[in-house]
Amino acid sequence: MLENLSAQPADKILALMATFKADPRSDKVDLGVGVYKDATGNTPVMRAVKEAERRILNDQKSKAYVGLAGDPDFSAVMKDLVLGDSVAQERVAAVATPGGTGAIRQALELIRIAAPQATVWLSNPTWPNHPSIIKYLGMKTAEYRYFDSATRGVDFKGLLEDLEQVAEGDVVLLHGCCHNPTGANLTYDQMSQVISLMQKKRAVPMVDIAYQGFGDGLAEDAVATRQIASSFDNCLVAASCSKNFGIYRERTGILMAIAKDADQQALAQQNLAFLNRQNYSFPPDHGARVVTTILQDPELRADWEAELEETRNSMLALRQQLADELRRLSNSDRFDFLADHRGMFSRLGTSPEMVEKLRADHGIYMVGDSRMNIAGLNAKTVPVLAKAIIDAGI
Ligand code: PMP
Repeated sequence: MLENLSAQPADKILALMATFKADPRSDKVDLGVGVYKDATGNTPVMRAVKEAERRILNDQKSKAYVGLAGDPDFSAVMKDLVLGDSVAQERVAAVATPGGTGAIRQALELIRIAAPQATVWLSNPTWPNHPSIIKYLGMKTAEYRYFDSATRGVDFKGLLEDLEQVAEGDVVLLHGCCHNPTGANLTYDQMSQVISLMQKKRAVPMVDIAYQGFGDGLAEDAVATRQIASSFDNCLVAASCSKNFGIYRERTGILMAIAKDADQQALAQQNLAFLNRQNYSFPPDHGARVVTTILQDPELRADWEAELEETRNSMLALRQQLADELRRLSNSDRFDFLADHRGMFSRLGTSPEMVEKLRADHGIYMVGDSRMNIAGLNAKTVPVLAKAIIDAGI
């Protein structure tokens, strides 16, 4: 049987991680994998997470199964964190999932059941796992233009032109905030126009929000998601707790399906529980319990918010430092976009050859499409990167 297998495409980012590890240079800089790192290169366990884990260790009386949808308290705190009061709670069906990836997978499977003919529209570029899972599930997909390689901002004209082609019932996947891999985001007004167009086309929005709190703040980063959720009868929202709680390996996420009314919500809820049952039965609990413990306790929540704010500000400071340094070295404002981008990533907008040159000549590792993890920098490596960019002639 196993002789029938053929090799699967290697994950480029994971392959890059392995090359970085094998590089003997002591001054190498890893801007590859999407994990937050502090100034010392460590991915810390957040203070509130440690404290919540201590409490769970002390207080937990049982490890028996919880429920197919996960703990209802987790759903309640996450609905509140992501959606606020943009939609009535009784319209929202929700299931805990293994990470944001699990939520995306379950969302796509739900679409496949409910609208097998729908095309799922993805930004070009997007997080590579989006097209990969869609292809694996045998679903139809199309791309809309997103990144303007001249300005390194959003190609809004191209985006609108492409979304004009959306058919009734198609699904449009939008990043809630901190677009991965580009770092370029739609403004509030631009999102309003996208919403109007989608309403006209009778399309269904799907939001992937994996970096809430990494851009402009917890509430600010939820604005687009809430704007979208409140504008449609139906909307799918896949949220990840990996980054903003720093609990990557705990696999904590949630899929929310916003229904037209309470009857439709009950049907969606039942289908989401069914999908969990088919794929992995009960979702992981530990990370979800940590998140719930933090969000339900005012003191822990305040500490988590404070640490998240420090994390966010450290990335903004690195962005500004890099943009300033490049302004000085290039004697131009052509790298100012780095300070305008939001989240953990920025797409430098250069060729794979230049990316390879930065790796070979300077030990600077970024993804082949020139996505840089800003959190991989520190105050000392920013000038090194800036000089390498200029030396390479980018
Ligand atoms: N969506 C986007 C855009 C992401 O960048 C990521 C993480 N790289 C995810 C979803 C999923 O993250 P996880 O499954 O680790 O929660």
